[in-house]
Formats: sequence, C-alpha cells, structure tokens
Amino acid sequence: MRKKSRLITTSPDRPRPSAALSGPEFVRKLLFELGPAWKGLAGCEACGYEVLIVGAFDPVPCPACGGTCAPFDPTWWERAARKMRLACQRDKALVPSLKAEWHARYPEGSHLPRFPEPLSWLSDALETAVPIGRPLEWHSHFRLAHLVDRFQSARLPLAKIFEILNHPSPKERQRRSDRLPEFVNRFLGGRLNVQDKAYYVGTLEELRRRVRWAHRQWTHPAARLKGERVRNRTKKRAPRD
Ligand SMILES: [Zn+2]
Repeated sequence: MRKKSRLITTSPDRPRPSAALSGPEFVRKLLFELGPAWKGLAGCEACGYEVLIVGAFDPVPCPACGGTCAPFDPTWWERAARKMRLACQRDKALVPSLKAEWHARYPEGSHLPRFPEPLSWLSDALETAVPIGRPLEWHSHFRLAHLVDRFQSARLPLAKIFEILNHPSPKERQRRSDRLPEFVNRFLGGRLNVQDKAYYVGTLEELRRRVRWAHRQWTHPAARLKGERVRNRTKKRAPRD
C-alpha cells in the first residue's frame, strides 16, 4: 500500500484563533465547546491567545504573553454570527447533522443551549431541524480506546488485542481475555471485563480506526471542530481498504 503524505500539527495545544475558523467549524465550536459560556470567549490584543472567562466578564491577564485578554465585543460576534449563518445557508445538512451529533454526545433529555442575538437564528434552526445522519457512536469508541490503552500498557500487541475482541459473543471475548497469561493480568491490576458490546470489532482495521479516532478527539482540538468521522467517506479509496 502506497503511503500518502500528511500534515502533522506541531502544536495541538494551541488552537487557531476563532476568527480564522471556517463557518462550520465556528458553529461546532459554539455548540460543543463554548455552549452557554460563549460570551466569555476572550482574545489577547497582543498575541491573539484565546481564553474562556467565566463569571464576571472583566479582562484577564494573557497566560501566553502577559498582555490582556478581553471578551470579544458585539461587533466581533455579529461578524462571527454572519459567517456561521452563511455556512448554514450554504449547507442545508449542517444544522440537522449537528443536531444529530448533539443527541449522540449528550444524555437523553439534555437541552440544546439557547443563544440570544445575534445567534438566536441558530437556536431557532436547531429547534426546528430534523436530525439527519447516523448518530456517531462516540462513547463506544472512547470506551474501546480506553480498554485498548489498558491492554497496551501491559505490552499486549494490537494484533493480540484484536484476537480477543474479534468475537460477537461477550462470553467468548471474556473467555479469550481470561486465557491471557497471569503476568498480563498482574500488569492490568486484575482481569478486564470485555463483555460490553462497544468492545466487539470485526476487523483489525476497524479496531485501528476507532482507537485512532478517539485519540485524535482527545488530543487535537482541530479534529473535534472539523467533526472528523471514524471512517472518512472519500470517493477515491484503495480497493483493499
Ligand atoms: Zn497574549
């Protein structure tokens, strides 16, 4: 298989300034990262570093350069709202799929945050939208990644982990896991329960994909804002993948 070149972000801990986000990324940030605290988003006048201020919205010292981080003013938010609105008008599927994502992420009964002007149109759109798209199985991927991390901390190779998890029957998975040498279980601090249906994987590639996705969600803010999927639906694919 030919290797593709790819870009690696060098500093995942320092996200792009909000004003540089695309419309869809901005909506995602607003909905999933800021939520009702959106008004506290503040930027440093000197270096652009962004923080979220909670409580009183007074300017705070910039943790990056010692300058001042002040909450963005209404004009800034109007510009941001325009950008988001344009993105939602261009892509009619955006709001319905974000609504599906919201329901997949949060427990049943959670309420979408209600945004006032200049963002009330977004709340209205979310309220009336019919969710589309297969809900992402966020939690099952995260649970699987935690389990794999634990197995790997006991030096178990991925191929071996796959052998354990590659059976639809919870009992059989548990049998396979329980057959691990005793020293592995000592490393793990006891036997792991592998019966949750989130732990079943059909192929080694699927296992890799789901774990990689969870790790990127944990470590790359940009991956969260882009709404990266576990499987990239591109047209050009290697036939064997
Ligand atoms: Zn600064």
